[in-house]
Amino acid sequence: MLNLKTDEEIGLLKESNMLVSRTLAIVAEHIRPGVTTLYLDKIAESFIRDNGGIPAFKGYGGFPGTLCTSVNDEVVHGIPSDYVLKSGDIVSVDCGVILNGWYGDSAYTFAVGSVGDELRRLLDFTRASLEEGVRAAIAGNRIGDISFAVQSKAESGGYSVVRELVGHGIGRRLHEPPEVPNFGKRGTGPKMEKGLVICIEPMINMGRKETVQMRDGWTIRTLDGKPSAHFEYAIAVNKGKADVLTTFEFIEEVLNKI
Ligand code: MG
Ligand code: MG
Repeated sequence: MLNLKTDEEIGLLKESNMLVSRTLAIVAEHIRPGVTTLYLDKIAESFIRDNGGIPAFKGYGGFPGTLCTSVNDEVVHGIPSDYVLKSGDIVSVDCGVILNGWYGDSAYTFAVGSVGDELRRLLDFTRASLEEGVRAAIAGNRIGDISFAVQSKAESGGYSVVRELVGHGIGRRLHEPPEVPNFGKRGTGPKMEKGLVICIEPMINMGRKETVQMRDGWTIRTLDGKPSAHFEYAIAVNKGKADVLTTFEFIEEVLNKI
């Protein structure tokens, strides 16, 4: 059975996810060549706490950071560190909060300084694959319809889809059923209903799909060492268009000013 949320609960989830969106915009203001990922982490943690939230990832399974910061060939779950970002890097910043007992979770992959056209294209396709997934998230459709939409868009660009990590339901827990894979067949998986709240989060590789976990016990990298991108929204399923509980608008306001 899927855990469906009332309109009131979705309102609370939206507040949590808006705090995540605003946190990612604060991070956007500070991303530039020369800053460390740990510095971004500290800024995010202060902002979340100043706004009455709790960093959701910190301590989750022992994870040490407020953010997951995954650079270049790191796919997800990178640990904020003294790594100094340099022009030409891409960095996926994944952020989770708890606000009033409800979770928010979103990720955006940033270009640091000036990045090459090949990387820009990877970012554009990954973002577009997320948007295609959202379009398929309609009551009456199945989870596999989202999976198929994401995979089709990513592979149409010549990219590959990470298999080992998937999207998820979200609510009073960070990860709830159902799993939301970024690959799959149309018409398969659980049927979606109004009130289902899920995170769609394509992890798309420039090269091959295989990944490997680093010895730190967290960081997932591409096996072939080629770059990977990651974007994530939390959405509430509706009879028509899904209600996107996260927004990248705050990030884009910042990036457009730079
Ligand atoms: Mg996330
Ligand atoms: Mg997630």
